[in-house]
Order: sequence, then C-alpha cells, then structure tokens
Amino acid sequence: MNRELIIKVTNILKNYKICSICIGRLFYHPSFKNLIKFGKALKIEALKNLKEPVKSDRPCYLCNNTFIKFKKEIPSLISKIQAYEFDSIYTSIKVPKKLILHEDEIRVRFQISSGESIKQTFNRLFSNYIAKKLGKIAKSKDYHLMISFDAEKNQIELIPQNIYIYGRYIKSKKGLSQTRSYCYVCYGKGCSECDYTGYDKAPSVEGYILPHFTSAFQAQKSIFHAAGREDIDVLTLNEGRPFIVEVVRPIKRKVNLSELEKVVNTNSDGAVFVKNLIEVNRDAVKKMTVFTRYDEKTYVLLVEFEKEIGDDILFKIEKELTNRVIVQRTPTRVLHRRKDKYRYKMIYDVKAKKIDNNKAELHIRCQGGLYIKELAHGDNGRTNPNIAQIANTNVKVLSLNIISIAPDLEKKLEIIH
Ligand SMILES: [Zn+2]
Ligand SMILES: [Zn+2]
Repeated sequence: MNRELIIKVTNILKNYKICSICIGRLFYHPSFKNLIKFGKALKIEALKNLKEPVKSDRPCYLCNNTFIKFKKEIPSLISKIQAYEFDSIYTSIKVPKKLILHEDEIRVRFQISSGESIKQTFNRLFSNYIAKKLGKIAKSKDYHLMISFDAEKNQIELIPQNIYIYGRYIKSKKGLSQTRSYCYVCYGKGCSECDYTGYDKAPSVEGYILPHFTSAFQAQKSIFHAAGREDIDVLTLNEGRPFIVEVVRPIKRKVNLSELEKVVNTNSDGAVFVKNLIEVNRDAVKKMTVFTRYDEKTYVLLVEFEKEIGDDILFKIEKELTNRVIVQRTPTRVLHRRKDKYRYKMIYDVKAKKIDNNKAELHIRCQGGLYIKELAHGDNGRTNPNIAQIANTNVKVLSLNIISIAPDLEKKLEIIH
C-alpha cells in the first residue's frame, strides 16, 4: 500500500475518530473492488503508526456511525415494507448539515480531493445491503421504491416511484370538459360541499378516469396528462385521444390493466371509455406532448349554409382547402385567454358530402392546432381561406367531432400492445 497515503491517514486518525468506511471512501476509486475492505486495510496499516488512537468511545466524525444506525432501523423497515409491491429499490440518505461541514473541514485540512461523498457511498452501500436482505434488485435509476433515510432523525421513509399508464380515451357525450374544476367553496382543500374531494361535482373526462386509477394502485393521487384537449361540445371518437395517467406514490404496482379498463368503462355513464392501457416510462409524458402538438388530426364537421348549395360549391371547397396552408389569427372566442397571433396550419385533405340542400358533412384531415369552427365561419376574416368565404355565404357549425388523433403516436413512443 502507498506509503504517502498511509502517512496521510495516520495524520487524520491522530486527530479524529473516523470509521473504516469513511476512511475507505475518502480515498476510494471506482476501480477498487471493495470499498469496505480497502478502508479497513488502510485504517489498520495507519493505526500501526499510532501509539494510541483518539477518543475511541466517540462516533465517527464524518458519518456519526450512520451505517450502524441504519442497520438498527432495518427490522422496522422490513415490517413497514411488506405493504408495498416492488421489485427494485434505491436508498437515499439525507445527510445532516453538520456532517457536510465536518467533511469539508477534513478535506481542506488534509488536502483530499479524491474519493466519494458520504451520500454517494452510503446510498450505494445501503441499497445493496437492503436489496440483498429483501431479495430484490438495487438500482439507481427506474427503481420502484425509494428508501429515504434521515441520518439526523434516524427515520426511514418509503417513497414508491410514480407509475405512468398510457392509453386512449373516447368521449362520446357532449358537455363534458376534460379536466375537473376545483370546488368553488374550498378551492381544492376539501369541504362538505365537495365530499372532501376538493373538486366540483360536474362530470369531466379526468373525473371519470382518475379515481379508479388512484384506488386500484392504492396511490396518493393521480394526474392526467392528455395529448391536447377538445372543446366541451366536441366528441372524440374512433381511436380516441392519447393520454397518460401519472399514478403518484402507488402502494400496488401489479394492477391488471384490462380489469382497470373495465372498471372505468362500466362506471362512466357511457360518456367516457378508455382503451389500450399500458405502462410506459416517465419520458413518455414529454414525448407525447411534443409528438402530438402539431400532429395530424381528422375532424368531421357538420355545417349549415345560409343559402342552398350545389355540388359545384362542395367541390370548390374540397379543391381549395386540400393541401392548403391556412392563416389563422387567434380566434375571437379565445382572445381573452390567448395572445393574438398568426398561426399557419396545413390542411392535408378535405372530403365533402351533401346531407341536404343546405347542409354538408366535411372530413378534414389537418395539422394539429387548426381551429376548425373558425375555418367554417371565418371568424370575421381572421381565418383565411375559410369555408364561408369559398361558398360565398354564412356558415353555421352544427357539430364537430374528432375521429383521429396522432394515428402513429404508439409507433413513435415504441408502444407495442
Ligand atoms: Zn464514518
Ligand atoms: Zn370543497
């Protein structure tokens, strides 16, 4: 063993009581096989040079005997952990400020720039130790359960990592908003008016979905992430709209998703259906948002013209709107909450079908973010071109439904059912 290193360690131990783990980690390099063995050997060598070691009844100056304290908590940890479903763990320790200052002091005084921090070493040691005891896997990423150890209060907290479930929803009833609103009495705190849910009782898409996720996973709560939203009077049909439910701090992880699907679908008053539920990782939330923001959508628009229209007009609408860039200023109806700006959105194709003398159904496949109602009536010239202008008459929207949203999203997210 390196002579210089042993002298350095001897000098440290002349002045401070330090455990062999902390000696080991101060000079540790990841290429060493075993930090504890290395620390022990180093300490033994150094102690040979000392006539008497310092105040041996004191705890380690650098870690305050964290490993011993942690071990004492293990029986209670094992009994608490039984309630949780998990395959992998990670242990993270909260280091008291005092110990960080001690470490700085030693590192400056003895000019030590090598090794690992107390957190690095103990996180790894504890994770491996616990995993072995429980017969589970220790991981530093994508683990199921975090065991947080507060080394000051000697407290262990179990923090299950969130689960992300991807799916698509179909909204088949009008008048339903996507998100719940907070209770108007308590603004989310929970009161008798809202049965202590914190939310208004008006039904919503997430209101039909989330509570079933929270209860199936025995979670703290669930958060709804959707790929855009539809107006309250617009239906989302066919394959539906992509969404991800973030299940927060779930106790259960092995939930049968097709059962969960059934539970949601049979308790939603026929207004909302979910399908193709599958677990994804956390990155999928951001990816879904980015991939779908301007992704392809197909709408079915039913309009009424003020005048009778012939096939020639419908043909003209198809021709002029297919493969066309629409210039659209922020619609008047959303100006109070969105900045007034110009948007340029592509229509890929339009198919028109006559329903009667002054009614037509249009299938519009376009880039996401195009405002369809405004495309129909023109919004006083703020959308250009528009159907009213092409038909040279006023146009009223009778209904608008979405029949396809981001058809390739599953492929892009690499989701395989
Ligand atoms: Zn120590
Ligand atoms: Zn309330």
